[in-house]
Amino acid sequence: MNPREFDWDACDDTSGNVNALHVAIPLFGRGRLAGIDLHEQIKVAKKEMREAIRKYAKADAGHQLKRKNDSDYLYDKFDMKVDVHWSDKMHGEMNARDWRIFKEDFNISYKGGSRVPHPIRSWDESKLSSELLAAVRRVGYKAPTPIQMAAIPLGLQQRDVIGVAETGSGKTAAFVIPMLAYIARLPPLTEDNEAEGPYAVVMAPTRELAQQIEQETVKFAHFLGIRVVSIVGGQSIEEQAFKIRQGCEVVIATPGRLIDCLERRYIVLNQCNYVVLDEADRMIDMGFEPQVVGVLDAMPSTNYKPMNEDEELDENKTYRTTYMFSATMPPVVERLAKKYLRNPVVVTVGSAGKATDLITQHVIMVKESEKMFRLHKILDELGNKIAMVFVNDKNSAGTLFRALDRAHYRVTTINGGMSQRNRDNSLESFRTKKYNVMIATDVLGRGIDIPDVAYVINYDMPPTIELYTHRIGRTGRAGKTGIATTFLTLHDTNVFYDLKHMLIQSNSPVPPELSRHEASKFKPGSIPHKPLRRSDRVFAH
Ligand code: ADP
Ligand code: MG
Repeated sequence: MNPREFDWDACDDTSGNVNALHVAIPLFGRGRLAGIDLHEQIKVAKKEMREAIRKYAKADAGHQLKRKNDSDYLYDKFDMKVDVHWSDKMHGEMNARDWRIFKEDFNISYKGGSRVPHPIRSWDESKLSSELLAAVRRVGYKAPTPIQMAAIPLGLQQRDVIGVAETGSGKTAAFVIPMLAYIARLPPLTEDNEAEGPYAVVMAPTRELAQQIEQETVKFAHFLGIRVVSIVGGQSIEEQAFKIRQGCEVVIATPGRLIDCLERRYIVLNQCNYVVLDEADRMIDMGFEPQVVGVLDAMPSTNYKPMNEDEELDENKTYRTTYMFSATMPPVVERLAKKYLRNPVVVTVGSAGKATDLITQHVIMVKESEKMFRLHKILDELGNKIAMVFVNDKNSAGTLFRALDRAHYRVTTINGGMSQRNRDNSLESFRTKKYNVMIATDVLGRGIDIPDVAYVINYDMPPTIELYTHRIGRTGRAGKTGIATTFLTLHDTNVFYDLKHMLIQSNSPVPPELSRHEASKFKPGSIPHKPLRRSDRVFAH
């Protein structure tokens, strides 16, 4: 509406601005639109806002614009609070409300611990050294992911952290970057102190995952001259001992092999004060708790932070920092955390155990005898796309692999029954796309990051919902989308309840056979609630 057409003063017509505010305000808060990139929405909203303000200021030419800032001007003019969006503010200008909106925008929440540092919104705000920032740039990570935004400032303060975030959301760099920042502040390892062992240890449940974390760490560490060695089972322990003796700041290990090396005195942890347990819950599930605890006990015990969080820390002292990460954190982990972590901050991105929305989940109710036919159908439509097919044990992996190989699919396999050399070769040829179908057991269920996996097929439904979440999380990583198809049979009733809830939570279709099945209505082990008989009801108040 052009205010000049009416007999009133230009500045009395607020319609343009009111409209602009109507468009802009919801987007400046939390009311974003589903399915559209958040940054894009904010950009559009800001543009519209600025245009509307400019238009109004023009119409208001007769009045003096005293303020240089458009939004201040609007604020004065209409006594309306037009808040500047957090992305337009410097870090120091952010108020409590901005931080709340920021955390909601990225689904970040904290529990436990006091004086939690604010997340970083960009790498520039991270207080990382220029060398480490240059390394991050060279690796090509343009912006931190939400778990990195939240966990890196905590790590830099040497706080203990339990980090829970979806599969494929960049948890590795969230613990690797502060770990390297910590090491870079220590005196360099020389012949004098090398024999005291590494400065930091990372433990992971499988060999393949430990090796992958090694690669992710080396990506950054080699720019800083920090040496990284992985020690995992299935390879020569003497060779690994030799590498350790040559000096390394970081050791990445499976707990069993690390404890072997400690017992044989190939390694000591006399100056190791930074420890990360990646996929902590899986290590406990697999029965590695004694080994994990053995490693934690081999570290200096004099460096624990005080139990009382308010007690002053000695600036000249190095404190032990313990990090635990996973996409799922069942209660067993809490026991370990209580003993070994000091006032940990639990950082959760999204909700624990939830699969990422980037994965489309299909569950199909089938008979055991139909599975092969259905798998063929999916693989026939795969083209050049990449798929991982999960089964529950190594024998099934072997059988399925041979059947698909005979049928001329480009298929490879990894399972616990293979030598480490064959496992490594198989994973490498899958990574390099020589084969586009991988038949795997849960050996590859956790943490493994193969960028282009488009499909995960659960040929067998895993026995727990955590395994399901992690298996399907091999697709839909680092912002890409993926499809997970699960063949469910009537032998899988133990997970019906959890699976149904997982599907409902992620807005995925629940097959009617699952939805109406008795086993999907009660958690296994819980006593079904019996409806009261009419005669009982009278006394039930
Ligand atoms: P998670 O441990 O949460 O399952 P990973 O640490 O394996 O996830 O990371 C998943 C993928 O995302 C990897 O390929 C990694 O290189 C990539 N990635 C991690 N952080 C970033 C970032 N800040 N920007 C771009 N890609 C990233
Ligand atoms: Mg991981």
